[in-house]
Amino acid sequence: QAKKLKSKEGVYYDIDMQDKMAWRLGIIRQLRHDFAREKLQVWYQPQLALDDLSLIGCEALLRWPSEDGGFISPAVFVPLAEDAGLIVDIGQWVLEQACQQQKRLEALGEEICIAVNVSVPQFKVKGYAQTVKSTLEKYGVKPANIELEVTESVVMDELETVINTLKELKELGVEVAIDDFGTGFSSLSYLQSLPLDRLKIDRAFVKDLPDNDTGAIAALVVSLGAKLGLKTIAEGVETQQQAEFLKNLGCDEVQGFMYAKPMPEHELLEFIETRNKKD
Ligand code: C2E
Ligand code: MG
Ligand code: MG
Ligand code: MG
Repeated sequence: QAKKLKSKEGVYYDIDMQDKMAWRLGIIRQLRHDFAREKLQVWYQPQLALDDLSLIGCEALLRWPSEDGGFISPAVFVPLAEDAGLIVDIGQWVLEQACQQQKRLEALGEEICIAVNVSVPQFKVKGYAQTVKSTLEKYGVKPANIELEVTESVVMDELETVINTLKELKELGVEVAIDDFGTGFSSLSYLQSLPLDRLKIDRAFVKDLPDNDTGAIAALVVSLGAKLGLKTIAEGVETQQQAEFLKNLGCDEVQGFMYAKPMPEHELLEFIETRNKKD
């Protein structure tokens, strides 16, 4: 049975909530510790053109190894890192990792774009676009070879700040994508005012394809993208039927376990070399 506790403010909450707060603090402390000791990793998941399955890019995804030999999901720790303000440093580190991986790809003769996820707190730091610019310069990476992914809810949350920063970033020449598109339930009118290159259709609208309802949403996003002159990429493609359905809609690109799972940096290089040998 849940024990009731009284906080300083006189609010009652139960022991579960107390546990939850302790758990969150524990995760944040451990994350800060492991980040400082360079225990985090960045993995990469290939993105392909739907028409000829050529490699067009990859998404950089954080991986945090846990003691049991597995990983703690970024879906769990990224929101906590955002709340704790830790995501600013971690996000910068991810960008730098992506730049270094970009140089390795270049050495293989592979000019593809690496997509990096960006959180709101990063956008809120004054001079964020300038930081991105000097980071790219530091590594000698062409802006067009880096894409920044911002979630739809983020854009709506902080419309003013985000729009201005996105414009600065776009002027640098980096690519910009809206991530998890369709999950933010936002007004669509803002889309026209944003400098974007790509809409990422969320996995939620891919996983049940060709189900009628989700199919209608996927179709809507693809045609919206086409009307606005944006590329559309579907996340979480796991089956041939899903791929066929998306291809028939005119979706441009795909990312999903069916093609390749996220992999460590050296495995991506091997993946590319193996593919290049085949053709
Ligand atoms: P996201 O940006 O939407 O990334 C796509 C997620 O879908 C990744 O989960 C990827 O592994 C997963 N995925 C891709 N294809 C498939 C598939 O076919 N089936 C299934 N079931 N899943 C698929 P992951 O790596 O667990 O990341 C979860 C979320 O954590 C990301 O969602 C993103 O919001 C956040 N995240 C990850 N890395 C970073 C980062 O460096 N910075 C920030 N701010 N957020 C990050
Ligand atoms: Mg993403
Ligand atoms: Mg996504
Ligand atoms: Mg998603």
